[in-house]
Amino acid sequence: MRHSYRTKFILLLSGLFAFLVTSAQPLLWPHHKKAVIVLTYDDALLSQLNNAVPQLQKAGFKATFFLTSDIDPSTIPRWRSLAKQGFELGNHTLYHPCSSSEDVTVSSDHMTAYQMVREIEIMNRMLFAVDGKNTRTFAYPCAETTLGGKDYVDSLRRYKLVKYARIGGDTDAVVTDFSHLDLLRIPSFGLEDSTSSAALIAYVKKVEQSGGMGIIMFHGIGGDYITTSSAVHQELIDFLVKNRKDIWITTFQEAMDYAARHSLPDRQGPVPLRAH
Ligand SMILES: [Zn+2]
Repeated sequence: MRHSYRTKFILLLSGLFAFLVTSAQPLLWPHHKKAVIVLTYDDALLSQLNNAVPQLQKAGFKATFFLTSDIDPSTIPRWRSLAKQGFELGNHTLYHPCSSSEDVTVSSDHMTAYQMVREIEIMNRMLFAVDGKNTRTFAYPCAETTLGGKDYVDSLRRYKLVKYARIGGDTDAVVTDFSHLDLLRIPSFGLEDSTSSAALIAYVKKVEQSGGMGIIMFHGIGGDYITTSSAVHQELIDFLVKNRKDIWITTFQEAMDYAARHSLPDRQGPVPLRAH
């Protein structure tokens, strides 16, 4: 089969890309762990406080909760207590604006980037009032990086309100090349309703084999919506407990701070390479 010049050029480029991807060295994670898993929970849901938190506490795992202004006088003391225990409270905007659909209460269709940035800024202040922290991570509502079709990530970047931001993705969301990672577009495995424990564990194994980082995006746990059952959540936790020697389970900010210190181009010192 003959290739046109254009095809040859594309083949050359994809070869180069494959080289770049495979040449990225996996990070050496703390305590000789092989990989990191970050558990994240969106939308400040009561089912997370009632069902996910006790399972996480029992296992001794920290996780990240992306909160909105749905936090209220009855839950704020509980979120605050979690922050004191080392859990992370992340920013998920005030009103969770998304592109219009039937279950969206606040539409982002006609919002400007500045309006969105202001929402994130005010939510940062609200979270500061809860936990006193000055650095914040962010998760895009509905995993959308656009407003009315226009991308606002670079606008958000200019305001320096958040250190790292999580986008969506599927089971391919495994980060191994941290030196080329956009810190405001960090992919995650966004669960659908009733994801099985087999699917979750298969993803964790894939992350472990890659030597990289995998972020899981949960919503309801044993209740609310886009629900993962409490039993499935517990099975994942049990698997992680069994493999805690090899897998680091920590918050989004801690995992990324570590990765940034050890692999991003502007960090100090040489890249510690995994011994082969
Ligand atoms: Zn959300």
